Amino acid sequence: MSTATGRIIKTYNGYYYVAGDDGVLYTCKVKGRMKQKRFIMAAGDRVELEAQGAEGMIRQVLPRQNLLQRPLVANLDCLMAVFACGDPDPSFLLVDKLLALAEAAGIPAALVLNKRDLAPAGLIDRFRSIYEPLGYPVLPVEAREGLGLEPILERVKGHTVAFGGPSGAGKSTLLNHLDPSLTLKTGHVSSKIGRGRHTTRFAELLPFAGGYIVDTPGFGNIDLSELQMDQAADGFREIRKQEGLCRFTGCTHTHEPDCEVKAAVERGEIAPSRYASYCTIRQELADPKKRGKKS
Ligand code: GDP
Ligand code: ZN
Repeated sequence: MSTATGRIIKTYNGYYYVAGDDGVLYTCKVKGRMKQKRFIMAAGDRVELEAQGAEGMIRQVLPRQNLLQRPLVANLDCLMAVFACGDPDPSFLLVDKLLALAEAAGIPAALVLNKRDLAPAGLIDRFRSIYEPLGYPVLPVEAREGLGLEPILERVKGHTVAFGGPSGAGKSTLLNHLDPSLTLKTGHVSSKIGRGRHTTRFAELLPFAGGYIVDTPGFGNIDLSELQMDQAADGFREIRKQEGLCRFTGCTHTHEPDCEVKAAVERGEIAPSRYASYCTIRQELADPKKRGKKS
């Protein structure tokens, strides 16, 4: 018996597959108290285990950087939001939803603008002017020709990343160029034969460009029907920054007087499209039935 540490890359039928820091792939079970439902263990979690050969018993989950619920995955280094410049046209609301999801979960994010060959004049600059000042890298690429991928590779190498965005944006094309050896197990299948067949929300980490990529059923369609945040403002760093300055504590930044967020929008410091997304997300959180109607 010895102690080892590693990373859960997959959970299946009560077993956890752990990529050991020592290079061994451990098949693990967990100790009693950790079997309780509310005790979360996710793909991406770092764990400590008692090992006997390639079998292990997980003793504890080490502190995590972040945790996403749908898909259930821990310790993401980056979420790449992939949108097309055209065919299909990008939706600012959808961009902001993905970025908000990452923000609320504490995951660094970047915005990949694919099909830059189809970009109408000014579109990429508009994205840059909105998102770069917020700290989101804007990465225009032409995935089909493998152009512009270096800045993405740099962010992916040796890291654990998830890619999200609407179907048709070119994610599969992009991933094939980034790592030709990748075969996503479930994503493509589930999108081709339709939803509903694979219903698990469990994610799996697959080796990808020297790091890991998150593979899930419905891959690429990070679940936005269930916005994973308590407050819309949690998803908007520029709104959170102003928040303490509003006259009323608990200001929703919609109808209240002396709202510093609205003032910042009027001064042009917060992009109108971002503020509009904030308002929509706020409404959807308040009334889940409205969700998805406008996106
Ligand atoms: P996914 O649904 O996000 O995985 O998208 P796909 O990778 O299947 O790509 C959707 C379509 O966009 C395909 O017909 C691709 O050939 C096309 N596509 C991908 N990248 C580019 C690009 O850079 N420029 C153009 N014009 N089309 C692209
Ligand atoms: Zn306010």
